[in-house]
Amino acid sequence: MIAECQLATDLVRCAVLMLLYEKPLHGYAIIEGLGERLERTISPATVYPFLTQMLAVGYLTATQDNVGKRARTVYSMTAEGRKFSEGIFRRLSQIVSTAIEPSLVHCSHCGSKLYEAGHVEEIKGRQTVFCCIHCAKAHKQAE
Ligand SMILES: [Zn+2]
Repeated sequence: MIAECQLATDLVRCAVLMLLYEKPLHGYAIIEGLGERLERTISPATVYPFLTQMLAVGYLTATQDNVGKRARTVYSMTAEGRKFSEGIFRRLSQIVSTAIEPSLVHCSHCGSKLYEAGHVEEIKGRQTVFCCIHCAKAHKQAE
């Protein structure tokens, strides 16, 4: 059986990378940001060990930020951490594009993939999809 919780944990970790790639955040802001992005409550127990690991390998640095009497730890991504994250993001986007590829519609003229609704025209009684009006025009001229 595939450990679903392990996959979910990995997803949370990827989201942590995305958040810290954007800007430095303190621990609670990370938990909150994850809740917003993933639309569920994320346990600090999932996040903090990962932050500790990232600190240990030098992908993050931690600084103390004093808010009133309380000190908060702010996590910032280092240049190495950014490089690491970019590698992860690249791999993720490859996986995602492979996953959505079969459901993509291609332009009937140039064959480019349509990520959004294309330009549809009825040609010889068939609904034909193009990426743009220019492809539709070129296609009709070629008929
Ligand atoms: Zn086209």
